[in-house]
Order: sequence, then C-alpha cells, then structure tokens
Amino acid sequence: MDTQKHNEMIDRYSARNYAPLPVVIAKGQGAWVEDVDGRRYLDMLSAYSALNFGHNHPRVLEVFIEQARQLTLTSRAFQNDQFGPFCKEITEFCAMDLVLPMNTGAEAVETAIKTARKWGYTIKGVEPDQAEIICCDNNFHGRTVTIVTFSTDPQFRDGFGPFTPGFKIIPYLDPKALEQAITKNTVGLLVEPIQGEGGIVMPPPGSLKRCYDICRSHNVLFMADEIQTGLGRTGRVFACDHEDVKPDVLILGKALGGGVMPVSAVLASKDILGVFNPGDHGSTFGGNPLGCAVARTALKILTDENLSQRAAELGEAFMARLRTIGGSKIKEVRGRGLLIGIELHTQAGPAKTYCKTLKDEGMLCKDTVEQVLRLAPPLVIEPKDLDWAFERVAKVLG
Ligand SMILES: *Cc1c(COP(=O)(O)O)cnc(C)c1O
Repeated sequence: MDTQKHNEMIDRYSARNYAPLPVVIAKGQGAWVEDVDGRRYLDMLSAYSALNFGHNHPRVLEVFIEQARQLTLTSRAFQNDQFGPFCKEITEFCAMDLVLPMNTGAEAVETAIKTARKWGYTIKGVEPDQAEIICCDNNFHGRTVTIVTFSTDPQFRDGFGPFTPGFKIIPYLDPKALEQAITKNTVGLLVEPIQGEGGIVMPPPGSLKRCYDICRSHNVLFMADEIQTGLGRTGRVFACDHEDVKPDVLILGKALGGGVMPVSAVLASKDILGVFNPGDHGSTFGGNPLGCAVARTALKILTDENLSQRAAELGEAFMARLRTIGGSKIKEVRGRGLLIGIELHTQAGPAKTYCKTLKDEGMLCKDTVEQVLRLAPPLVIEPKDLDWAFERVAKVLG
C-alpha cells in the first residue's frame, strides 16, 4: 500500500484525536526513517524524546529480542529476574532510594500525584481529602482526566469534565506566586524543568532552585516531570541538574523505554515512596521483564555513549548556527542541549505550515504551540546529519 492508501485507511478507521503529518513510516535506523514509498527522512522529533537512542539502537534491539525470547510478562503477582536489577540500577543512576515502575508518562504522573497525596496524609499530617498540589500555567503532564484537570489549554479539558479537585495553578516557576499559593494543605509542586509541549519554555534563570528552596522550607514535595527533559536530552542527565536541584520526586518516561517499550517510573526517597503498602497502587505491565531489560540497557547506553555530553555539545553548536539564520520569520531560537524551539513571528504564519514544507524537504519535525517548531533529534544523531538539517531549516525559514 502506498502513502495515500494508508492515510485513507487511517482516516476511515481511526479516531481523529491526532492530525499528523501524512508521512507513513515503515522503517527506521538511527536518526533516519523511510516511508512506505521508499522516501527517506531525518527524524528531528524522536517521538517527543522517546527515541533519544535513535531508531533500532543495536544494543536495545539485541536485549529486546533476547529478553522477548526468555520472558516478557509476569505481572507483579510474581517477581521476575529483571525487576531487581532494574530497581537497583535505576535508583543508583538517579541517586534515589526507591522506584515505582509504570508504563506511560501519564501513569507515572498519576503515581506521583498519589504519592504526594498519601505522603501528605500519612507523613505531613494534612486533614483527609484536603491535599493540594500546585502546578504551573502552560503545563503538559499527560492526558488522563485528573491530569487535564490542571491543564491550562482549553482544548485538553473541553468536554472531559467533571474534573478532579485539589490542584492550583501558578505562573511557570514563579517563586512569589508559589510562596503565596502554599497553604498548610499543600503537598507538592509538580513542574517540568523545561516546558516541552508548552513551546520549549525555559525556566526563568534561578527559578528551579528558588522554587525548590521554597518547597523545602514549607515541607512541600518538589516533583519534577522529567519525562521529556530527562535522560540526556537537555545536555545534562536531568534538566534539574542545570540548577543543581535534586527533586524530591522524579518522574521519568519516554526515553526510559529505549524507543521500543512504554516504560515509566517514579523515584523518591524511602520517606516518600515508602508510603505505599501492598495493594495501594499498581499496574499489570509495570515492572515487566521486557521493559525492565530495555530500560536497564537504555541507562547503560546513556552512560557508555556519553549522550548527555553529546547533546550539550551538538545542541549548543546547532542552536548557535540556527541563530545565524536571518530573515523575517524567526523570532527566537531557544532550548538546552538537543531540546530546541524555534519561535516564529506571528506574521510568518503557523509553525505547522513550515513542518509540512520541511517534510517535503526530507526532515520531520513538529510544531508545539502555534508559533513554535520543536527540534529534538535522537541524541545519537551524527554531526553531518545536523549540518544537513541546518541547510533544510535555513532554506525553509531563512
Ligand atoms: C509526554 C509527556 C507526558 C505524558 O507521557 P505519555 O507517555 O504520553 O503518557 C507527561 N509529561 C511530559 C513532560 C511529557 O512530555
């Protein structure tokens, strides 16, 4: 079947909850993919950072196939031989005491919310059902009913009420607003250290640290959603590292699954994740041996291939070049490491139009908000491929 036939079939049988570029991908290797008609594209989105190691990373693939032959799923009703090593390795990697594994990012965020609430009631002493969690304007944490409750994008909420009580919104990492929003019932601040879906919005300088300190002084958990920013993407292992902040609760997903499996996790100290008792919370697939094997490999590759450093160096050079593109379209180039946003002037028209043109040029990327193109290639991308991408961007946006 060719591209058109595939698109017709998808339009006919799939719910229309996405409006993707119409490219139909059939193969991938490293930073490159090929569509059903044999056209090649450079993947400058990496499945929203889930493909930090690129498509078909040989080590990920080998472990995935080998583990699939041995054992794929036990449920947590039984232990499996990948789970212990996974827990040990990821907690050491993140310098945390405990881990609670889930699958998708949204599930991990839900888990963090439950953790903060239970911690609030059992440790902090908040009155039953009074716990409050503070979130930031323009956030993205996933798509469950509870999570869209505190979205500030009307489309994410429209038609999905009634919502979950217990959330407050402040301007993104605004220390004054945080201080004012905290009450005796506040159990946590949930925040992305860089807002990805929100348009690659950078934290105001020093604000992560200041908000962290405010949380500390009020006995409020600082919960970092590093699902998109974590595991090397921003040039450090975690985006919070840029301000030497070690969150109380760390939420990981996307790249943790090595690009082949949904694997997410919540990590925290014993005092915090220790609040769970058997039966309180769970997931049939969470901690499955296939996911654990792949995640263990993902963490090893990140270290062995020094990918955080690579993201820092490649990202800095690439951003510097992007800033040399003249013309009337680009308003700002911003980001950290290989998480890069190109904001367009309003008069240039929506970013989506340029994503289509770039696709025709052989480069895949995605608009986030109306005026922002996000560039987030696999961290394993070759410098010459970034040069190639630069030429395409300069041609289309220059
Ligand atoms: C993608 C994302 C999520 C949701 O992850 P899913 O796996 O799509 O549920 C949550 N938070 C952030 C910051 C994300 O980028």
